[in-house]
Amino acid sequence: MNRVRLLVFNAALGVLDYRVPPGMSVEPGSIVLAPLGPRQILGIVWEAERLDAKEVPEAKLRPLMEVLPVPPLRAPLRRLIEWTADYYCAPLSAVARMTLSSGAALKGGGTTTEYRLTGAEPARLTPQRAAALDALHGEQATIRELAEIAGVSDGVLRGMVGAGLLEPVVVDIDRPYPRALPDFAEPDLSPDQRAAAEAFVGAVEQGGFAPFLLDGVTGSGKTECYFEAVAAALRAGQQVLVLLPEIALTENFLRRFEARFGVPPVLWHSSLKSTERRRAWRAIASGEAQVVVGARSALFLPYARMGLIVVDEAHETSFKQDDGVRYNARDVAVIRARFEQVPVILASATPALESMQLAEAGIYRRIELPARFGGATLPHIDILDLREEPPERGRWLAPRLVAEMKTRLERGEQSLLFLNRRAYAPLTLCRHCGYRLQCPNCTAWLVEHRLSRRLACHHCGHEVPVPEACPECGTPDCLVACGPGVERIADEVAELLPEARVALVTSDTLNTPEKVAEFVAAAEGKLVDVIIGTQLVTKGYHFPELTLVGVVDADLGLEGGDLRAGERTYQQIAQVAGRAGRGEKPGEVLIQTRHPEAAVIAALAAGDRDAFYSAETESRREAGAPPFGRWAAIIVSSEDEAEARDAARAIGGARPDHPDVAILGPAPAPMALLRGRYRYRLLINARRSAELQKIIGQWLGRFQFPASVRVNIDVDPYSFV
Ligand code: ADP
Ligand code: ZN
Repeated sequence: MNRVRLLVFNAALGVLDYRVPPGMSVEPGSIVLAPLGPRQILGIVWEAERLDAKEVPEAKLRPLMEVLPVPPLRAPLRRLIEWTADYYCAPLSAVARMTLSSGAALKGGGTTTEYRLTGAEPARLTPQRAAALDALHGEQATIRELAEIAGVSDGVLRGMVGAGLLEPVVVDIDRPYPRALPDFAEPDLSPDQRAAAEAFVGAVEQGGFAPFLLDGVTGSGKTECYFEAVAAALRAGQQVLVLLPEIALTENFLRRFEARFGVPPVLWHSSLKSTERRRAWRAIASGEAQVVVGARSALFLPYARMGLIVVDEAHETSFKQDDGVRYNARDVAVIRARFEQVPVILASATPALESMQLAEAGIYRRIELPARFGGATLPHIDILDLREEPPERGRWLAPRLVAEMKTRLERGEQSLLFLNRRAYAPLTLCRHCGYRLQCPNCTAWLVEHRLSRRLACHHCGHEVPVPEACPECGTPDCLVACGPGVERIADEVAELLPEARVALVTSDTLNTPEKVAEFVAAAEGKLVDVIIGTQLVTKGYHFPELTLVGVVDADLGLEGGDLRAGERTYQQIAQVAGRAGRGEKPGEVLIQTRHPEAAVIAALAAGDRDAFYSAETESRREAGAPPFGRWAAIIVSSEDEAEARDAARAIGGARPDHPDVAILGPAPAPMALLRGRYRYRLLINARRSAELQKIIGQWLGRFQFPASVRVNIDVDPYSFV
């Protein structure tokens, strides 16, 4: 091949042709450096017939500079990149960038210098050095990373190297990972579990695309079952990807994985240190990494020998990415499995309606685990009608719930209170003039964080100290907190059950793997009586002594009223209920609500999942909503209100007239202002048969807006704000 076409990492440049100099050899997927003006750019060699480019005469082609020392991206991954870009109306280069997500890895192997403590303990130390000495126990990393861990400057650490407190260690940047052992600790499976595991193992051994929906009640041992499929892939020398919705869940997963396979898996998430990222990327690309556990970004990595994909808690909405390339990792995982020709398992106790529908249609093979493992029973669910049993004035927990908590406390058992609201109170207002404290950058109220004594916007991060006086009328001491967040519930529990030991579980308190581990250890060691948490506590955890779950406000999730409000509420409450009674003692769930008649709540109380899914399915069918019809949102934004409005109107004015699509808007978005940008939305509702992406492409392709206007396309949107 003398002439090659490159996909380069700049959407504006798109696709460029180059000449391959003599002696250099490339193939589709090769990652190369190429000249562009005086600069060098990174590119991926692509099949020329699959990408359009301006024809450049031979004589004008410039030669490639270098082939990077990493394996070429395989064809199934190149097809996945194309598919994702097409489906989500995203630039190819933006999708491809998710694959090459470790710049350091592309430079190839070699050695690097890390540092660790020498063990010397001088008599006199500056406070900074003493703190570093404490913090760096057992750590080995670069100076930069150690500085971050210890919270001191690089200079302090360099000084410590000079003083003989830290020593350099030359390490291979490709240190191998320990090998996972498929037979390390094989479980005794129940007959149901065995049947499920055999179906998965058979599919792995046979190879080929095979999508499964593993639909098992909470505590049924779904993980144990898919671990058998993981073992089968390991025996065959293949790689496995396990996607989890949140890093907070990986802690528990890691321990179980290690118990089953003898070593931890390879981790991939956004907060990896760059050295860990490089090491993982290279091991994934070489095929050495056997099992990769990660957040959604692990999906686009260049696996050399993919054998199986698992998406755990597959119903979770956090698999949907809401910026950059707006893809849904659950859906793309299935597509990747198809391109790779491997099995994929979507595991959940409360599958997404879309997944249920695909199982109904026979496209996914549904495997059921109808009972909890080891004879544990599903918890009893009871409704607490707040209109009949209201909490005391100024409180949020009804007397019956408090009484149940007290009983648990006396018996030495644990209770969990679920409220999907961080911080102390969602709204602060002035008692005198009614003014509501709002974010200056967003259409959102400021949320009071009493623990840190600040008001914060949960959308843009804007923060201010709680003011002494109303910013509007100036009256001092007149601001009141309205409504509860988990911090406020914690205060209430402290007043009502002063002897109870409380753990607060939110993204504010459990924001590192270490803190998650600490919490899990405390809860398992019975050092906690009451757990109060947001959606973070609804899934994954297994605390045998937890026998009571209280849902503080079941109506909260239904308020927004978007497409998935009912489904999400059902899933959250069913999942959090699933934390109760997982050990020998039975569990009890109390759902506080003002709308016991709402379909979701009634179905939860009756334990009638099928009724919920069929009612929800029918209403979606009638509305032409997913999975029966398709939606896409267009969000137009600018820092200038008039500019955003005009651009949205121009787009709206050019709307295609197509029998298979209906277009709503433009209208100001519910979050009309977000991070300082004014936002307008259009919503497209299309029949399944419509060529939605093509229609959008032709429609928006005509417009050239200034850079200050952003037009984002969200296919299969989850967020309607
Ligand atoms: P799920 O993910 O379906 O909610 P888990 O996989 O978390 O359920 O299993 C619930 C608990 O039961 C876990 O502590 C797990 O280790 C245990 N368990 C499940 N199946 C088995 C088995 N076959 N042998 C031993 N323990 C099991
Ligand atoms: Zn804000």
